[in-house]
Amino acid sequence: MEGLHYHRATSIEDALQWIAEPGAVFIAGGTQLVDLMKGGIARPRCLVDVSRLPWNAVEPLDDGSLSIGAGVRNSDLADHPEVRRRHPLLARALLAGASPQLRNMATVGGNLLQRTRCHYFYDNGFPRCNKRAPGSGCDALQGHNRQHAVLGTSEHCIATHPSDMAVALAALRARLRLRSAADERRLALADFHRLPGDTPERDTELREGELVLAVELPPLPFARHCHYLKVRDRASFSFALVSVAAALELDDDGRVRDAGLALGGVAHKPWRVPAAEQALLGRRPDAAAAADAAGLLLDGARGHGHNDFKIELARRAITRAITRAAGNDSPDA
Ligand SMILES: Cc1cc2nc3c(=O)[nH]c(=O)nc-3n(C[C@H](O)[C@H](O)[C@H](O)COP(=O)(O)OP(=O)(O)OC[C@H]3O[C@@H](n4cnc5c(N)ncnc54)[C@H](O)[C@@H]3O)c2cc1C
Ligand code: SF4
Repeated sequence: MEGLHYHRATSIEDALQWIAEPGAVFIAGGTQLVDLMKGGIARPRCLVDVSRLPWNAVEPLDDGSLSIGAGVRNSDLADHPEVRRRHPLLARALLAGASPQLRNMATVGGNLLQRTRCHYFYDNGFPRCNKRAPGSGCDALQGHNRQHAVLGTSEHCIATHPSDMAVALAALRARLRLRSAADERRLALADFHRLPGDTPERDTELREGELVLAVELPPLPFARHCHYLKVRDRASFSFALVSVAAALELDDDGRVRDAGLALGGVAHKPWRVPAAEQALLGRRPDAAAAADAAGLLLDGARGHGHNDFKIELARRAITRAITRAAGNDSPDA
């Protein structure tokens, strides 16, 4: 049995120093990492616990953005008065994820960095998984792929990204603050998660030893007209087959002045197509306009057998989410 070192970080600098140890990984709420360790899929040699760092603030920035520390628990974020008032789309997406107990432990950083729920990835009994064992192949391609991606796939991987929170953050044009021992940088959330290409083992653009410090949400006036629609097999405690985050800014005439749209459950990353948002501009967000946006969002979608149904499901879900967002008129709707 291999030894495992555990270090509880006392500061960000301390965490960044310890992550340089061979085989070191960050652990926050542990709700996914511990599962992966139990299954032998993650085999860290050193756990750097970042859950006690003083980075659980939700605070306004000078430019009007809202900064959310990476250590904020999912339940606290969904319940935060400023998030409910300014970004109810985010609160609703969070509440659509996991269970109350899990949300009480799960952190913002851990949610963004969670790995796919592809059952072949999770089960060592299946020999071929390019994400778990690079170069081994992909058992999902010819296997049971009902949950899998229909957009942005490659011949090496058709897994989806499971986070609900990230889908809302993509629609809300969030940025991430990332910190390494060498420097600090900002990255648009839309550029953070990757498509599988020929390196599906890499989920994100996070560099080795880099820490997600915070999420920043720009002050977009999307609060009054938004909807998060999650289609899943069970009413709760289930990952999305398809999810849609829709946020609209309407003028006095009820026409779209700005729009944020993103899909979950359909790709290796939250799926955002700026052209689909632009297609709504200047129009009333009725079923016809929503169908046009859906066509652009789903351009190039391709099923793999069991998941062919997702394309039509997504089309209908997008139309419903946009028209429902248009109907909402209060941040708590
Ligand atoms: C039964 C079940 C159902 C679920 N259903 C849903 C669902 O419907 N929707 C949904 O969105 N999620 C769902 N989840 C996933 C859950 O939201 C994640 O497990 C959780 O968000 C991970 O957060 P954590 O803090 O526990 O991360 P951890 O398990 O501690 O870490 C996860 C990963 O993130 C890395 N990490 C953590 N923090 C940082 C940081 N600040 N910087 C860099 N790396 C970091 C860790 O190294 C690790 O690789 C479900 C989970 C379970 C077990
Ligand atoms: S879809 Fe990706 S994660 Fe799933 S088995 Fe194939 S390579 Fe592995």
